[in-house]
Amino acid sequence: MTTENLLEMPNSSGFFGPYGGQFIPPELKIVMDEITQSYLKIRELPAFQEELAELFQYYVGRPSPLYYAKRLSNKHGGAKIFLKREDLNHTGAHKINHCLGEALLAKYMGKTKILAETGAGQHGVALATACALVGIECEIHMGQVDIEKEHPNVSKMKVLGCNVVPVTMGTATLKDAVDSAFIEYMKDPISQLYAIGSVVGPHPFPMMVRDFQSIIGREAKKQFAQQHGGLPNTVVACVGGGSNAIGMFTEFLEDTDVELMGVEPAGKGLETDQHAATMTLGTPGELHGFKCLVLQDEQGEPLPVHSIASGLDYPGVGPQHSYLKETGRVNYTSVTDEECLSAFMELSRVEGIIPALESAHAVAYAIKLAQTKPKDHTIVVNLSGRGDKDTDYVIEMLGL
Ligand SMILES: *Cc1c(COP(=O)(O)O)cnc(C)c1O
Repeated sequence: MTTENLLEMPNSSGFFGPYGGQFIPPELKIVMDEITQSYLKIRELPAFQEELAELFQYYVGRPSPLYYAKRLSNKHGGAKIFLKREDLNHTGAHKINHCLGEALLAKYMGKTKILAETGAGQHGVALATACALVGIECEIHMGQVDIEKEHPNVSKMKVLGCNVVPVTMGTATLKDAVDSAFIEYMKDPISQLYAIGSVVGPHPFPMMVRDFQSIIGREAKKQFAQQHGGLPNTVVACVGGGSNAIGMFTEFLEDTDVELMGVEPAGKGLETDQHAATMTLGTPGELHGFKCLVLQDEQGEPLPVHSIASGLDYPGVGPQHSYLKETGRVNYTSVTDEECLSAFMELSRVEGIIPALESAHAVAYAIKLAQTKPKDHTIVVNLSGRGDKDTDYVIEMLGL
């Protein structure tokens, strides 16, 4: 497998090696194929690319800075740690990158409404923001249990003009919200677009979301060359579904001297049943219409997962990550809730940057790695989001 082949992924059926594809009913396949055809045409339009580039610059605030965390690096005595500040984007995370892409695509496709599910509400808020800006109706399905837990995000979505649909069936959490949103979508797939929140789901979503997120790595590579020179030795990102990680990694895939590391949640420990370490302990399976590594039982049912960071607790992972692991181009490791909390506090107190608990997983691994490396080793960490949403919870956890 050459790196050139890696860049040509996925193939025309949406496969990354054995992973990805479309494992969906025929009527849904027709809908997905239409989205693929439209996307491949629309992304070639200069008007679309220019509009997206302008929104990235003037609305999101891109390029996000690449920041040399000097105090953090010096304190841990080894490698230099750089942070790609996706936390400084409008709405506070990388999700706005693909939500704007999807909302704009919906507009170009002549859709009148965007539909999605949300768990903790991060995807919902980013999508509601993008829809308000683009001027398209937005409907978000959310489990009643999650609605009660994530009140600030529900309020934000409502203020942004989004219709939040409470889902009370089943366990009234994310999985049921997915089912509910899909039922609604299939009622009218012509005038609606389903907007998936990560590099998961059937083709073309893993490809599309990756393309919209790959701005992160393109900027980071240029910024690193300007500020430091050359290429970083190691690039680190946390992996839930895998969108911020693939957004960072794509530009570096051909640079085989650059070590790429994905960090997933080990939760309360890999030896317990409370983690979401899909890359480490998952096996090939089918989930939500695509093939990937899955944490599953003997019947192929997805296992319950846990992470302190709600954005990382998914029993599957993007098909491209599943394949990048198999090819050996990216390595994957895991970090526990406890290590994550400690990195959350460390970055807050040493650099004055409060990271999202999701991003703190990548920071935790970078700190551990930096301690084992010489001073001329460089590490770029994708700081996928800010941690304002997590401060109350952390205070409670740590008894501060
Ligand atoms: C949602 C989220 C993640 C996890 O999603 P990926 O698709 O794996 O990137 C990571 N960080 C933040 C801040 C998030 O909001």
